[in-house]
Amino acid sequence: MYDLINPATGAVFRSLEMTSADGVDQAVARAREAFPAWRDVAPADRARLLRRFADLVDSHTEELARIEVENAGHTISNARWEAGNVRDVLTYYAAAPERLFGRQIPVAGGLDLTIAEPLGVVGVIVPWNFPMPIAAWGFAPALAAGNTVVLKPAETTPLTALRLAEIALEAGLPEGVLQVVPGFGPEAGARLVEHPDVRKIVFTGSSAVGRSIMARCAADVKRVTLELGGKSPNIVFADADIEKAAASAPYGVFDNAGQDCCARSRILVESSAYDEFLEHFLNACRGVVIGDLLDEKAEMGPLISATQKARVSGFVDRVPADRLAYQGEVPDTAGFWFPPTVVTGVSADDEIQCEEVFGPVVTVVPFSSEQQGIELANLTQYGLSGSIWTRDLSRALRVSRAVQAGNLSVNSNSSVRYSTPFGGYKQSGLGRELGPDALAAFTETKNVFIAL
Ligand code: NAD
Repeated sequence: MYDLINPATGAVFRSLEMTSADGVDQAVARAREAFPAWRDVAPADRARLLRRFADLVDSHTEELARIEVENAGHTISNARWEAGNVRDVLTYYAAAPERLFGRQIPVAGGLDLTIAEPLGVVGVIVPWNFPMPIAAWGFAPALAAGNTVVLKPAETTPLTALRLAEIALEAGLPEGVLQVVPGFGPEAGARLVEHPDVRKIVFTGSSAVGRSIMARCAADVKRVTLELGGKSPNIVFADADIEKAAASAPYGVFDNAGQDCCARSRILVESSAYDEFLEHFLNACRGVVIGDLLDEKAEMGPLISATQKARVSGFVDRVPADRLAYQGEVPDTAGFWFPPTVVTGVSADDEIQCEEVFGPVVTVVPFSSEQQGIELANLTQYGLSGSIWTRDLSRALRVSRAVQAGNLSVNSNSSVRYSTPFGGYKQSGLGRELGPDALAAFTETKNVFIAL
């Protein structure tokens, strides 16, 4: 049995049996058995089932959100948004079964058709930071395209995924089509990756594990989508609405206590606006509401675990004290709370500027020209997200083209929209989730030539 701990209190609230490698084998066998019938469900019926699944998720929003508050330490308003995101992603991909178009390509001597076929059994491996949405980004397009899914949540946060699988059955999805195996990464996760009947792995998590999964998938040329770490820049030019950029910046990095692969954890500010920005930014940081997660106004919760707290504390302890421009207050309880922390006076190669902290820690660094801003933004192994604040449209487009990242926002710190592609450049990942692009990742293109 594995103890689940409430991150806000540090107390065990439930114990759960973890799935063994044998248990994963059994789930994959059931998924394989369920595949042909699910693939052959009429497109309109598969669409209807996914819409019903979305509607049922919607009517369980409050229940799912409260599970996540206790299991993942999310604020209630964030957790409700996350359940809503699952509903939206399912609704969006419910349109797909009837729109998985092929092409007819002009050729000599006959007719040429392409057909988008499902892959078979898909393994989806999910981290603990956004257990619900990240699970849905994998299973919704996979199911819509006619695959069956075995989903492994993070060991610390399996409860919403387990509930979603029950809701799928209630909605009428056949047994075996969406199964959840709560288990440890090196055992259950690794078995899913190496299982010969799993045709594709969708992995979201750390770059280190992602690299090892990619190497294992290479052994039998298994399809793989990777969503890995980030160290995203928030680039503020002097011509921007500085007050607006500063007011938004805390939420770009402290949301979910900074445990967000898209966290804007490096704020880069044009020198002439640096002092003005910093003053407004520190004021905005003082306003972040931290505390009772069920309070509608709560904006930041604890870290996920004692391990994560020790890791984040380690990064901050290694920063010289005179560089800590701000540290907020957190509840004095046994939970894994860590204060919002602002660091200034860092160099480009300082650990805190290069490594993904995955906690509520941000650096603020000046730059002297557009070119230097771009260079600093790109000075990282990662390339997931980023923001550009400016009133100059040409600059916004120029810098957007130059920053090596998969998801950029201009005058906004948002990253994810269910209808647009999401994924990383460089070591932030491989492939794209969400939007129309994701469907191609869950199908094979078959070309058929018919001689006439
Ligand atoms: P992690 O890599 O430790 O674990 C992620 C998942 O992989 C968990 O379910 C874990 O059990 C499983 N796992 C671990 N070892 C495995 C193995 N050998 N084989 C198969 N599965 C294994 O990551 P984490 O600490 O849970 O999550 C934090 C990381 O996730 C951060 O680096 C963050 O940036 C990244 N992340 C990326 C995105 C994105 O979309 N790019 C989104 C969220 C989180």
